Amino acid sequence: MKRYIFLLLLVSVLIAKAQNISNYRIGFDKCDAGDGALKVECSFVINFAGQDSVVLDFGGTLEAEAVQDLRITPDNVKYNFNPTVKQITFYRNRSDWQRVAMEYIFMNLTSVLMYDGSGAEIWESIYSSSGEFYYPMRRGTDYEGEVKFTVPDSLLVIMQGGTDATQWQSINRCVPINFAFLNKAVYAKQTMTGNDGCEVYQVIGEQADSARYETLCQLTEKSIRWFEEMYGEDYLCGRYGAAAYPAFIFHKGNGSFNRYNMGFISASQEKFATYPDIYPLIHEIGHRWMGEYTMFIESGERGYAFIIETLNEFMTLMCIRDIVGVEAYEALIENCRAGWDKIKGTNQDVHPIDVTDNNNIPVTYRKGVVMLDSIAQEVGYDVVTSVIVQFYNQCKGIPNLEYEDFEQIGGCLIR
Ligand SMILES: [Zn+2]
Repeated sequence: MKRYIFLLLLVSVLIAKAQNISNYRIGFDKCDAGDGALKVECSFVINFAGQDSVVLDFGGTLEAEAVQDLRITPDNVKYNFNPTVKQITFYRNRSDWQRVAMEYIFMNLTSVLMYDGSGAEIWESIYSSSGEFYYPMRRGTDYEGEVKFTVPDSLLVIMQGGTDATQWQSINRCVPINFAFLNKAVYAKQTMTGNDGCEVYQVIGEQADSARYETLCQLTEKSIRWFEEMYGEDYLCGRYGAAAYPAFIFHKGNGSFNRYNMGFISASQEKFATYPDIYPLIHEIGHRWMGEYTMFIESGERGYAFIIETLNEFMTLMCIRDIVGVEAYEALIENCRAGWDKIKGTNQDVHPIDVTDNNNIPVTYRKGVVMLDSIAQEVGYDVVTSVIVQFYNQCKGIPNLEYEDFEQIGGCLIR
């Protein structure tokens, strides 16, 4: 009993010393906003914890234009908004506790460029400082709050896999709130049969055939179970904002990228309907575990693309090896080898750990995977996967991750 009380005291001392934001409430208003714009109203209580200021991430790639008509109340709140570094600093008045309310228009350049004219607008943020922080927050820290969307009747809101996001919903997570607005006249909804009930949105008139849809349903269900068992962690997880199984949004915006957005997956409608290869969608499911919303490494850091992408791609192929078959796996590895061969002897052929941004597909998604496969052939596939699983479970959700964190666990494998 004594030990229990001691623990409680220790926890409350730790909490008292840490700065935090509480009573977070945020409303996103899409009515009367143009493409890529939102009216945002949010309020929260800052605990300065004895320090003079609190710095929050805030702003977007449009720099001075991203946040417009900013109004902060009460009027005596002292703050400094620096759009270039995407940060807002609040200064302590007299008390440690300060309630703040903010109102502004946010212009999301990334979303406009990616999805213009597609009937879909996707608001996605990433851990890296290159992201859009459309409300003030501290990246990589847990917080709780409530979020609500106001949209015109023509739009659907997709958030955390839920579609009724226009009611107040609680959030408890350490990743940004990602969401999408879909034009009801452009997108049709289906719900997968089976336990998970994933929702699928496709462009009306451009839908994939029923065999393709059925394959997606089966691979989704099987791969979710595989990853859950492998990582020892359920898909559904409040901390990372996975309140429902993933919704798939097949859009006709820029189709170069598939994206995992913590709760929903966005990918090209055309590719889903016409490309033979459906496995990249399993890679997106794998990002629920290994990826930019759990492994908080900045782009530009050594090992960035290896940790965020290569490890997930290798685990994806391991999943395919188990749920589809060794033959399918080996064919994919051969493709990877061929992809790597094409760049051998060029400047692009660097070590996978030296890719510090996600801008070298042949190395990150091909060479890196072939290297891991070669290691697995020597030491055993189960040894390599267990190292990756151990790394995930030890390092998930920890801010400022570095390659050395992987090296300590798996450095003996890859050099
Ligand atoms: Zn990826």
